[in-house]
Amino acid sequence: MRACASFLLVGLLLAGTSAIAAELPIFDAHVHYSHDAWENLPPKDAIAILRRAGVVRALVSSSGDEGTQRLVAEAPDLVLPSLRPYRTRGDIATWVRDESVVAFLEDRLARQRYVAVGEFHLYGTDADLPVPQRMVALAREHRLVLHAHSDTDAIERLFKQDPAARILWAHSGFDSPDAIRAMLARHRNLWCDLAFRSEPGGGGKVPAEWRALFTDFPDRFMVGTDTFTPERWHYIVEHAAWSRAWLADLPPPLAERIAWRNADALFAALFPKSAPARSQ
Ligand SMILES: [Zn+2]
Repeated sequence: MRACASFLLVGLLLAGTSAIAAELPIFDAHVHYSHDAWENLPPKDAIAILRRAGVVRALVSSSGDEGTQRLVAEAPDLVLPSLRPYRTRGDIATWVRDESVVAFLEDRLARQRYVAVGEFHLYGTDADLPVPQRMVALAREHRLVLHAHSDTDAIERLFKQDPAARILWAHSGFDSPDAIRAMLARHRNLWCDLAFRSEPGGGGKVPAEWRALFTDFPDRFMVGTDTFTPERWHYIVEHAAWSRAWLADLPPPLAERIAWRNADALFAALFPKSAPARSQ
């Protein structure tokens, strides 16, 4: 039943006539393509959704990594691969204490190129456990960005382990503008994705506290859909359009930075296999 519904939705999206793709390019910095997504949405159709949305680049990770590799093979110009420390969805809850995760990461890093490690879920003192510490060391060795779904305590601990780390803070920590501001002021190598956050752009208007944050830290924010369940793949086009609507409430140079330039600056140089993003 779900497969049928998904197939129908993909068909509708591909057959749409909107001119979204001609508008502001989007770098979607928070995409997952795990096994349960590619069962119903083959790589060709997934890439078609991204292109239809006007997504010029996407930071993609998947539980098991195979989904990511399938999308890279389909569209190396579009997909920037990130390595999750998860072989299956179930690893989310257990990876921090699972020594076998280290061997998995080492094996993948020996075979493929990535721009980031993550998105991983890591909170508080767990950041100092041996497995996360080894992951941070591997990221440093391979010059990879850490994509952390974390509280401020874990972010601080990651920076203590590697003061030169570059961290993309997933969902901006689901934190308040004031808390985000404090973290950005403290760490110049901290970037924030806005995935699964509606506050910055509800109703196509950017609230004053978010506008001030974007204005004061114009190089640190990027948008992302977060396809954490397969169904959310069908939200990518709508999310890109919704992002463009509220970004239009900002000065165009700032809107472009948040839409794609910041993410492109952070990631693109790390993955020469991909083609340059469109300049607009
Ligand atoms: Zn995610």
